Amino acid sequence: MTENTTESVESFRARARTWLAENMPRWDGHVSPPADDDIKEWHRARELQKKLYAGGFAGICFPKEYGGLGLSPAHQQAFTEECRGYEMPLLLNTPTFSICAATLLDVGTEEQKRERISAAIRGDEALCQFLSEPRGGSDLAGVITRAERDGDRWILNGAKTWSTSAYAADWGLCLARTDWEVSKHRGLTMFLVPTKAPGVTVNRIRMVNGSREFCEEYFDDVVLPASAVVGEVGGGWEVASRQMFHERNAVGGGSPYVSGRGLPPTMPRVPPIDVARALGRSDDPAVRELVGEALVMTAVHEQMVERVSRALGSGALPPAGSSMLRLLHAETSQLREDIALKIAGANAATGTGADLGIGGRVSIGYLMRQSASLGGGTTEISRNIISERLLGMPREPALDRDVPFKEVKRGR
Ligand SMILES: Cc1cc2nc3c(=O)[nH]c(=O)nc-3n(C[C@H](O)[C@H](O)[C@H](O)COP(=O)(O)OP(=O)(O)OC[C@H]3O[C@@H](n4cnc5c(N)ncnc54)[C@H](O)[C@@H]3O)c2cc1C
Repeated sequence: MTENTTESVESFRARARTWLAENMPRWDGHVSPPADDDIKEWHRARELQKKLYAGGFAGICFPKEYGGLGLSPAHQQAFTEECRGYEMPLLLNTPTFSICAATLLDVGTEEQKRERISAAIRGDEALCQFLSEPRGGSDLAGVITRAERDGDRWILNGAKTWSTSAYAADWGLCLARTDWEVSKHRGLTMFLVPTKAPGVTVNRIRMVNGSREFCEEYFDDVVLPASAVVGEVGGGWEVASRQMFHERNAVGGGSPYVSGRGLPPTMPRVPPIDVARALGRSDDPAVRELVGEALVMTAVHEQMVERVSRALGSGALPPAGSSMLRLLHAETSQLREDIALKIAGANAATGTGADLGIGGRVSIGYLMRQSASLGGGTTEISRNIISERLLGMPREPALDRDVPFKEVKRGR
């Protein structure tokens, strides 16, 4: 990360405080249920991002040559602390900035960095990830979406699924198989695919909480130029690994590339202590014990984020260390959802409607509980990575590791 520390963190913080007060709308605390069509929220997020950009507070940790400010994670942290209570373009944080732009910064071509990262920082474009496929997401190196060379171009065919907010994105990072003669990790290439290109179909999927942010995509003879390749041809696994590093870091709360923290107001998660207070149960000893458990776990999580992020930044921990953040995030958020539901009791079954009360927020948060152990790779995969790559335990046996991919038995 390029650092420009000409301005001290404290001076930057003071400037941000004044600018935020004068320019950014205050968040009124209104939480609405996930909407059937949330494109308005996307327009709003882009508008807010444009405001940050015009005010000189966008892309704090991205280098200046790609439209950012080239400042340090400490500057970003100070800004994050100051922007609490203001409306922020949270929808753009993940995957656009914390995963896709961060990956392009590490492995993209100069042109991809100058065009895509700057457009995202200006609020003109959003990015998404086309990784998981209908046959399964954990075995990422086993993708069967294919890209075939045709002179100078590539022809993409296949299907992806569970793509967060692809319907609102302009570009997707798509992992495809380009060589079936070599082993599965070696025959992959990452492409930057325009989501509106001819041959790309994006369908939205309705989730149990009512949201339609998830998408599935079909690629039918999509023509891509040679400049769409991210990293090396055949080097897609290295790019995907970098992407997964950024995703685990982002999901775990350790990404320096976000503007403001937390979830957008359509994805309510209520801290157990707020549930206890709102329902007048904070004097109940059993409730106090539950609230205490959630507070302790949250404090441990926050300190782990700080410690592990610092170790990842200095190289004291290898990139696989981001799986610790990812795992603890799942454990903490699921504990909090469970405790919030226990405290809310029957109230969680009653609070619904356009303006969610505390009960509605708890119930919608609980319906999303399981996503914390799936997004960014599952909890089981995080445990595998920690045991194999951090603790040096034996690798999981894999019969397909060194076999040409065309000979690997699939779908049985
Ligand atoms: C909130 C959220 C956002 C997401 N966003 C995106 C996105 O933007 N783009 C995208 O491409 N995908 C996205 N995903 C998909 C996500 O990456 C996949 O759900 C995840 O990788 C798991 O894949 P799967 O659901 O197909 O489960 P499977 O891979 O089919 O796994 C099923 C179960 O088997 C277990 N399992 C599988 N292999 C092993 C193993 N080797 N050892 C132990 N256990 C194993 C898994 O842990 C899981 O419990 C998102 C998912 C969520 C919940």
